Amino acid sequence: MNDKEIKELVALLSAPKKVVILPHRSPDGDAMGSTLGLYHLLLKLNHEATVISPNDFPSFLEWMPGSENVLVYENDRETTRKLIAESDLIFTLDFNALHRTGEMETLLSKVTVPFIMIDHHQSPDDYATYTFSDTSYGSTCEMLYEFIVQIGKKSLIDKTIATCLYTGILTDSGGFKFPKTTGNTHRIVAEFIELGVENTLIPTLLFDNSSYNRLQLLGRALQNLKVISDKKTAYIALSQNELNEFNYEKGDTEGIVNYGLSIKGIHFAAIFIEHTDENIIKISFRSQGDFDVNQFARTHFNGGGHMNAAGGKSNESLEKTIEKFKQLVSEISI
Ligand code: 5GP
Ligand code: MN
Repeated sequence: MNDKEIKELVALLSAPKKVVILPHRSPDGDAMGSTLGLYHLLLKLNHEATVISPNDFPSFLEWMPGSENVLVYENDRETTRKLIAESDLIFTLDFNALHRTGEMETLLSKVTVPFIMIDHHQSPDDYATYTFSDTSYGSTCEMLYEFIVQIGKKSLIDKTIATCLYTGILTDSGGFKFPKTTGNTHRIVAEFIELGVENTLIPTLLFDNSSYNRLQLLGRALQNLKVISDKKTAYIALSQNELNEFNYEKGDTEGIVNYGLSIKGIHFAAIFIEHTDENIIKISFRSQGDFDVNQFARTHFNGGGHMNAAGGKSNESLEKTIEKFKQLVSEISI
């Protein structure tokens, strides 16, 4: 964003507004952290702010401050549609194409109030009046910190806001180990810890809060893991029946894809999860090094994301989807 745009935004935010803040569908730690961090900041600035998630967020994020006030579009279309219709401004965080909100896309594409996009994914669409898009950042939460600094509100960052932003930085950087983690990331986190952010408790709340069922499902997933060693590839498939067997709850498969990459010599990992209620196979891709999974997901599986972490979907059966994947893998050079 240039100086002129920042000045316009500062002016826009100088009087109380009705603001809607949107994460992408199936929000992760970064999407929830950035939307809730902004929510708390806007409340301090005397705006009426509401976070509307397109669908339910995972239970491992329920401890986040303000999550009790998040509205879920798919659970309350009437209230959320009204809020959007009456809003003065809409922030879209951690995504850059309106279809990432699922069913809300139709509604949002008709809205005429200014949109502000803050996001770190590749190839942003041009729906926003103000676009802060930069793929060099490891998380939207880190971008939001920079945005708050740029609009001159850094002094308002308190323990609550810092807790939200810390969560997204932590989860999107894989615990500060992904390549986009910089000195600046650590300097920001150092400030957050000095503000009182509970940096030993939060990882426990996020990662050591598993249910027995989730661990059993993880066990099944690891047994299902297959390796294509000449292509440095590993993949996992989970059927709807298997999810049912372990009383699957939203968020239970989060992070499982990464186990493929933890095998020595594996540079490309995928997980295929059957969701019969939506009639789709949800896919996550991860890579290490220069195999571009964003490109792979975009080209073959109707998805996208980043160079080393992307997702997509398939409307074919689980078996056919895996067959297609294996065929594609046999053609890649990695
Ligand atoms: P995950 O595998 O954790 O769901 O997603 C990894 C990354 O890819 C995230 O940055 C996410 O936003 C992005 N992503 C996941 N699914 C899709 C999709 O269907 N379309 C696009 N464009 N990006 C996706
Ligand atoms: Mn993100």
